[in-house]
Amino acid sequence: MESASVAEIRRAYTECPICRYVFRASSVESYVTVGREPDLCPKFRGRQSDGSRLLQNGITMCPACSFAAGEGFENLDLTFDERQDIEERLREDGLLRVFRESPPPWLGFHAAEVCGKERGLGARELGDLCLRASWVCRKEGERPFESTFQLRAVRHFIRALERDGLQGRELSVTAYLVGELNRRLGNHREALNWYVNAERTLDRDPGLAWLERLISTQKEAAKEQAA
Ligand SMILES: [Zn+2]
Repeated sequence: MESASVAEIRRAYTECPICRYVFRASSVESYVTVGREPDLCPKFRGRQSDGSRLLQNGITMCPACSFAAGEGFENLDLTFDERQDIEERLREDGLLRVFRESPPPWLGFHAAEVCGKERGLGARELGDLCLRASWVCRKEGERPFESTFQLRAVRHFIRALERDGLQGRELSVTAYLVGELNRRLGNHREALNWYVNAERTLDRDPGLAWLERLISTQKEAAKEQAA
């Protein structure tokens, strides 16, 4: 256990399911936040770079072949074909080829998205990986990459909304995030449409009162920015 007041971090040896390399991986068991930004990025006490590191611990990446996942490797059950396809995708991926030697803080999320596509993860989960990557970029001051990941998150989330029959809280939060990420990307009209879509899904659920308040605040912000 490290920095007990902020987070519980577990370090354990783990074996890569793709290349069998054994290494020590850190994972976060739980962390304490001091609120969230309007795109739900957790705020932590202390330095931004410490918060970034905590978020990065949500992903395990093999230092040898760059296989990455949000789940612990020991829980993954990959078929022979999946392993081969993932290995090939990791070898060919452009960003991994450029950045593998000295990995920037967001690389694990990108690798987890690449591997997630091959593992057949849902669009909502792929979007979530990109959203978390954008949070890390913001905490690290990596502005262009923050926008890149926000855009990718929007695409995955829209696909999830169109095809995956999201319901309840997940439906409302996802529609809201498409609005909020569009606002951050400077697409204010688009953002307004999505805030309205999100509002329509709320259905007077008292558990989502926080989201209703957030939507009306952010809608005002987008209106001002669109004017
Ligand atoms: Zn590996």
